[in-house]
Amino acid sequence: MLKIILSDIEYNQCEEIKNITTIKTKGCVKVFYPKNQKQLIFLYNLLSINNIKFALVGGGSNVLISDRYMGYIVSLSKMRKNILIRGNSVVVCAGVKLSDVYKNCQEHGLSGFEKLATIPASIGGAIGMNASFDGSQISDHLVWIKVLRNGKIEKIFRKDLMFGYRKGYSKGLILSAKFTLRAKDRDEIRDEFMKNAIVRLSSQPQGNSFGSVFKNPRSVSAGRLIEECALKGKRQGEAIISNKHANFILNTDNASFGDVLYLIQLMEKEVYKKFKVRLEREVKIIK
Ligand SMILES: Cc1cc2nc3c(=O)[nH]c(=O)nc-3n(C[C@H](O)[C@H](O)[C@H](O)COP(=O)(O)OP(=O)(O)OC[C@H]3O[C@@H](n4cnc5c(N)ncnc54)[C@H](O)[C@@H]3O)c2cc1C
Repeated sequence: MLKIILSDIEYNQCEEIKNITTIKTKGCVKVFYPKNQKQLIFLYNLLSINNIKFALVGGGSNVLISDRYMGYIVSLSKMRKNILIRGNSVVVCAGVKLSDVYKNCQEHGLSGFEKLATIPASIGGAIGMNASFDGSQISDHLVWIKVLRNGKIEKIFRKDLMFGYRKGYSKGLILSAKFTLRAKDRDEIRDEFMKNAIVRLSSQPQGNSFGSVFKNPRSVSAGRLIEECALKGKRQGEAIISNKHANFILNTDNASFGDVLYLIQLMEKEVYKKFKVRLEREVKIIK
């Protein structure tokens, strides 16, 4: 068996946060880039066993990282893009982007990722959040996930997992996942993807963001509540609450962690003051 040593794993003592997140705030953090599952498992166990502070980042599309964060980031962005297709089944490693899963499935005439592919997520992050778009959830076609939990690798079947609105698996490191998809005409799959990509382009603000900041409360959209507090266009430093969609914060140039956090807290405070509703954050803050 190949022995792994820490110095084999790519490491950057001062990686710019903008290179590993979609909100692209300023500052730098310590980042490990495992390339394969062996390195990832070795690193995860090493950091966990020694109680060293660390956080996992997949696509980085739902995280706000403090420029003062003292722990390590384990980024899955340079993991091998392993996608194994057999018949209607697809097994994907955690770091793979949903758009790459879609591309492979489309080539094989397999339907299921056309809507999900428009989300800038990795498989691990998407299962962790139960990412969804327009009624299509990552958990819909899931068969099992392979996870590392308490030092052991386990396969957990879909029936033993609880998924909800932006509520996925959060008890350990997701290593890979299997999906069963439907056979469909390749052109139809591509058309469906294009339709969804256009819907997203026309309905959501463009620029550096993390998508929706807050989950929608039961009966109303978070964006509507924020808009009614007259917060659209509110700016802090180089971060702004989008004029197009009030549940989005955009980094207009080189916003800091503090700029973005200020706006998140302002949205929470004003919505509570006006509606007595406590918004629940979708974005994960790493500090
Ligand atoms: C422009 C834009 C549009 C978006 N639209 C949508 C949308 O339509 N629907 C939607 O649901 N979301 C949307 N999002 C939010 C985001 O893409 C999702 O929450 C996504 O699931 C995050 O995946 P990620 O790989 O980027 O995770 P990250 O942001 O890297 O991480 C998110 C969380 O998952 C954990 N995590 C990451 N990888 C693993 C792993 N392998 N094992 C265990 N935990 C892990 C992280 O530690 C963190 O807690 C959007 C974001 C952007 C920027």
